[in-house]
Amino acid sequence: MNHSVLTALIVFCALFFASCTRQPAPEITLRYDENQSLEYHEVIDAYRQLASYYDKAKLTEMGPTDTGRPLHLFLLSGDGDFDPVSLKEKGRSIVLINNGIHAGEPAGIDGSIEYAVNLLENKDGMAGVLENTVIAIIPVYSIGGYLDQSRYYRMNQDGPEYKGARRNARNLDLNRDFMKQDSKNARSFAEIFHSLDPDVFIDTHTTNGMEHQAVMTLIASMHQKLPGPMAEFFKEEMQPELYRRMNEETDHGMIPYLQLIDRSHIRRGIAGFNDHPHYSSGYAALFNTLAFITETQFARPYPERVLATLDFIRFTVEYTARHTDRIRQMRKEASAQTKTRESFVLDWAPDMAQYDPIVFKGYETSQSTTPLTNRTVTNYHYDRSWSDTIAFYDYFTPLVTVRAPEAYIIPQAWEEVIDRMAQNGVRIDRLEKDTIVEAETTYVEDFEVSGTSNQGRHTISQLETRTELTNRQFYKGDAIIHTNQPANNYIVHALEPEAPASFLRWGFFTSALEDGEGWWIYGFEDYAWERLQEDEALRKAFEARKAENEAFRNDPRAQLEFILSQVREQEVERSWHLYPVGRLVSGK
Ligand SMILES: [Zn+2]
Repeated sequence: MNHSVLTALIVFCALFFASCTRQPAPEITLRYDENQSLEYHEVIDAYRQLASYYDKAKLTEMGPTDTGRPLHLFLLSGDGDFDPVSLKEKGRSIVLINNGIHAGEPAGIDGSIEYAVNLLENKDGMAGVLENTVIAIIPVYSIGGYLDQSRYYRMNQDGPEYKGARRNARNLDLNRDFMKQDSKNARSFAEIFHSLDPDVFIDTHTTNGMEHQAVMTLIASMHQKLPGPMAEFFKEEMQPELYRRMNEETDHGMIPYLQLIDRSHIRRGIAGFNDHPHYSSGYAALFNTLAFITETQFARPYPERVLATLDFIRFTVEYTARHTDRIRQMRKEASAQTKTRESFVLDWAPDMAQYDPIVFKGYETSQSTTPLTNRTVTNYHYDRSWSDTIAFYDYFTPLVTVRAPEAYIIPQAWEEVIDRMAQNGVRIDRLEKDTIVEAETTYVEDFEVSGTSNQGRHTISQLETRTELTNRQFYKGDAIIHTNQPANNYIVHALEPEAPASFLRWGFFTSALEDGEGWWIYGFEDYAWERLQEDEALRKAFEARKAENEAFRNDPRAQLEFILSQVREQEVERSWHLYPVGRLVSGK
């Protein structure tokens, strides 16, 4: 064979019969049938093998995690295009799947590998979804948690035999870290999330609650957080179809995640989940992503949980593929609406006047006493099942609403806050010169700092604030965050003190609430005397308090503290209990 014939044959082979030059397709062996999950290196190796064999698959090392190992991202794309910008231009939808955030709940780790294999092998024509939908999989999110395997973690959970730890390498629960982003995992996740801007997001878990017949329970992000048409689509069209397919086309069964109204009576109904933005789904919803947390039931055997997670992923991807144009159009409109929105709901209260009837299939129970501690426990009788219609209270009413200012201004001293905003796709402008700015300023009148740490932070509760228009000095380089951005929801939830997952509540601003100057009785008393002569209202209040309270009358320090408390922010210490972030109000 001469050289040119050989070359032509190789080119022919490469172009038309790619498989003739290839090794056989990779054999990925999962062990969930034997109640085992894979070791971490086996998980990554499985994806690496798929990516090296199939042109439609790619495995990328993304940012670091707290173990030092990088997060991996596995992408499946029909035409081998993996560039998010170009994929968006082509009108593709993107589904992002996050696994192993709680590493002891690995059903999605195994389920996602099997799903990827099935899709790439085009089992039952499954690969059709790749024509307009891209699937992105984070194989294991809490890598540190997954490396730490023990048979004694989650001991009530039916497999796998060895389980990873709930918390990551820095002992953080990563499903509380999406707003504060203290872990490197969360910061690397933010980068992935914002580069992909997924239309649909699934975070896979396992419950620890009660037993019943369904393998899958589902938290769908609170629909009312989404703009009107999207909320309606999510609640009235997408969710019913996913429930229908899980219940009619499989044996798994799926019901909403069981948050009981009354812990001892399932028949009183279940409550919807108010997924604050420190949870994965609540965070995703801030960016108008349709978000789910799957929670397979802990008492069902591991293989069933893997397959239920796999089927939920499959149905969700298929639904997304079928409605790609509509979902993308709705998200585009939602993003435009978010950019110009003025009013934001920061927190919600359950609306107990509205509910959806759902069918719950349970087991009869009885109580018994344990021999070791005489504890009363519930026993499930798997041979005596029952089924009933119960109420699912999945509606909420706004509890705290705020009007967004034209912009927020954050002094550059609060670097950790500004960095996180930048990490989450927020556009940040900088003050060009030192300026006195008229800003709405919030004073924290009362608050409590948690005595024990919560996720490594001392959180703030019992917040009472007062807001005034003041002239404040800001400096060149201070951050200005305009509220005309697609990230508006994130901005408002991060910076409004009252928001349940605000940076103030997570303790980023606690030093601002400590006493700064301190004060000295001797120096202060001369001032207090003069002040009382000039300020009649203050003098009257002071005299009234002395008249009615004997202890006060006899306590010089209490008297000076009283005067100090009345004049503190205005005169003595202008930054006392001042929340550093200013609100710039339009027209001012
Ligand atoms: Zn979990």
